[in-house]
Amino acid sequence: MITVEEVTARLGAVRERAAAAGNPDVEIIGVTKGHGPEAIRAAAGAGLRGVGESYAQELVAKDTDLGLREGHWPQIHFIGRLQRNKVRRIADLVDVWQSVDRPELIDEIGKRSPGAQIMVQVHISNEATKGGCDPDAVADLVARADRAGLRVSGLMGIAALGPPAEVRSGFRLLRSLVDDLDLTECSMGMSGDMELAIEEGTTMIRVGTDLFGPRSPGG
Ligand SMILES: *Cc1c(COP(=O)(O)O)cnc(C)c1O
Repeated sequence: MITVEEVTARLGAVRERAAAAGNPDVEIIGVTKGHGPEAIRAAAGAGLRGVGESYAQELVAKDTDLGLREGHWPQIHFIGRLQRNKVRRIADLVDVWQSVDRPELIDEIGKRSPGAQIMVQVHISNEATKGGCDPDAVADLVARADRAGLRVSGLMGIAALGPPAEVRSGFRLLRSLVDDLDLTECSMGMSGDMELAIEEGTTMIRVGTDLFGPRSPGG
């Protein structure tokens, strides 16, 4: 069982790591995917402003438990692979769509959640499985989102599992795209690579394991 005390202590440790890496003020999104609703409760109790969820169905189940539309819950960041036909189901639960990587998702979110805040997910690793659009496609997607009336706050990327030099070059690419497009947020860095991400200029790290412990298999 995940408790507020536990998450508060772990959050303190993550903040110390962030400070040691050079940015004590980086935004920390608590990734609660793969855990029960108590993880969101504990995240709220620990004072996290945002949590990350990856699966539409899991998010809907947690809403049934918690009533996420009412009360003072952290913002919900959707960070997982998103199917177009799931957007409608979760549109009123999601505050920030971080994993937008193709035109059909922009059009669907524009329709189901007018004016929503999104981030464009960019493929910054050499693994085919991580999702995200080609770096060459980012500018067009951002322009399309603007035309659809969505608010593009920044870009998101997931680094390769690999040697630090490879991870770092992915982060550097994402940061340069954020700067080129004059965006604000750069969502990169997780439990295992947050220090590298901070060194490369992330504004938002997404931390699951180091805040909530290991996830159930498949989470
Ligand atoms: C699961 C996940 C995370 C958190 O990963 P940890 O290694 O547990 O910190 C961050 N970002 C995305 C997109 C994820 O899917």
